[in-house]
Amino acid sequence: MRQLQSQIRSIDHKGYPAYKSLKGNYRFPAYELWIDHVQGDPFASPSSLHVFISGKTAGIPADCYGEKHRRTALEDFLLRGFAKGVDKISFQAKGSGKSGLIAVSRPGQEVLERSACQVDAKNGNVLFRFSVGFPARGRSIDARELEKILFELLPPVVERAGLYKNLNQKALQQTMELADDQKAIRGQLEKKGLVAFVANGSVLPRESGISERPMKNAVVFQSPESLEVVLELPHRGECRGMGIPKGVTLIVGGGYHGKSTLLKTLEKSVYPHIAGDGREYIATGSTGMKIRAEDGRSVYQEDISLFIRNLPNGKDTVCFSTLDASGSTSQAANTVEAVEAGSRLLLIDEDTSATNFMIRDELMELVIAAQQEPIVPFIKRVRQFYEEKEVSTVLVAGSCGAFFHVADTVIQMDRYLPKEITQEAKKAAGAFPLKMELETGKLAAAEERMVFLPRADERSKVKVNGTDGFSVNKKQVDLRYLEQITDGEQMLAIAKALEYLRRKYGGKTVAMEKLLDSVMELLEKDGICALTEGSVVPNMAMPRRLEVAGCLNRFIGTKVK
Ligand code: ADP
Ligand code: MG
Repeated sequence: MRQLQSQIRSIDHKGYPAYKSLKGNYRFPAYELWIDHVQGDPFASPSSLHVFISGKTAGIPADCYGEKHRRTALEDFLLRGFAKGVDKISFQAKGSGKSGLIAVSRPGQEVLERSACQVDAKNGNVLFRFSVGFPARGRSIDARELEKILFELLPPVVERAGLYKNLNQKALQQTMELADDQKAIRGQLEKKGLVAFVANGSVLPRESGISERPMKNAVVFQSPESLEVVLELPHRGECRGMGIPKGVTLIVGGGYHGKSTLLKTLEKSVYPHIAGDGREYIATGSTGMKIRAEDGRSVYQEDISLFIRNLPNGKDTVCFSTLDASGSTSQAANTVEAVEAGSRLLLIDEDTSATNFMIRDELMELVIAAQQEPIVPFIKRVRQFYEEKEVSTVLVAGSCGAFFHVADTVIQMDRYLPKEITQEAKKAAGAFPLKMELETGKLAAAEERMVFLPRADERSKVKVNGTDGFSVNKKQVDLRYLEQITDGEQMLAIAKALEYLRRKYGGKTVAMEKLLDSVMELLEKDGICALTEGSVVPNMAMPRRLEVAGCLNRFIGTKVK
């Protein structure tokens, strides 16, 4: 610490690059400070630092980090506390360019493992990563201001956020209990034959299209009696709510009655949410995947023949490639790819579907002979997917009654409250028999899908564009329609996963499953930080296998000529 101090003083007023000499690690009373990377000038991206607090000094009880779900919740809790403290000291030191900026990861409503705060499972060591704009006056070093940051402003913030004795211990305890309860909900889904659980009293709608915070004065969720299940949670005790059973579930109702809001909630609830979010006691099966139309996407050697056959241009749909899919072929590819990557729950909203992929009505079936229609609409396969592959579907279908015939459960949203109307719907449907043949019978087990993964470039430069996608060395990867990607940090992790796989398997033809297994095993075993090489770990958040697959599928496709 003293060495750092005298070194900082010795470079005062020198040219900015002299800051580079500070790279290294320094002992402070409560922690080690690491300066991992120093920016080249005051206007460049700020310098990367981290602090390391030994488990002994941090003093966090072992039962808060021994188990994975608790550790992730603890890291999230510590990170939010640290970010709050950092907010108060950012730009208190002044100067040109980014001088005095102190920045740290900004988690949204969900609780995910993030590289910005890591707690060691074995010994409770705590690590915070952040960045600092090293202060300058013009282009020369302002040593006093950096001294102020590292010796006055930062130490109390680190100690308040990282030492157990300074934490709000009651709030931490509640966070641990919520994490246990959330795990228990998720754990009971399978046993109870459910694909999702929505607790009574939950708040589903969000504040606005751009805010994920809960809507104030919303109609709170209340399960219809017939779908109500009781889950036993370790801390909260009995928790009642709506269980959505496996199989085919329809969400119907008038326009603006809350159908899409319920579906969106299910999409988001593959991850746990923080206390106060309104969705903290909601869980969707962790392989739940939003399926939508995505015209213009590329598809690479995918077998979409279950849904599309004999295209008029004679194109093969058993091994189908295109750089510019139509609405229906893109939705077919999205469905097949999701199941291939392990999804057992498809979440579909008619608002974002290709109508001709979903359904074809009788009159059209009559006029256009089956031989001339390449599309086998989803309605013909939805039962088969469940019966043969155990893939359930939750489908918002406000405008098409034909789906009544294939549904196991029908939920009507009525002024934002769900009612179960399965009996009524089935009875009404009885008077309008379905005049189309549904597809039945065994589905051939999917053959192992081999893909060619282009080699990684020497130096890959990844630039993330929020939840829209990223570029690697100027090549754009558009992931806008993987709607469950949470934020830019998760996007960066997905990009890094791709680069990891290209370093490992680039230039080879490999089974898709092997690629996904390989990266998910790494993440499971070594955590999110294992995705990077080198000393600086950027802010990343844990992705799912399904989104990594979505990225791979779109990336390899763009190589087709
Ligand atoms: P639908 O898909 O049935 O047309 P939406 O789910 O899009 O309807 O909801 C319509 C509007 O109602 C949205 O602006 C949404 O924010 C609002 N909304 C949804 N659920 C609730 C609720 N529980 N309480 C209050 N407003 C809600
Ligand atoms: Mg809608």
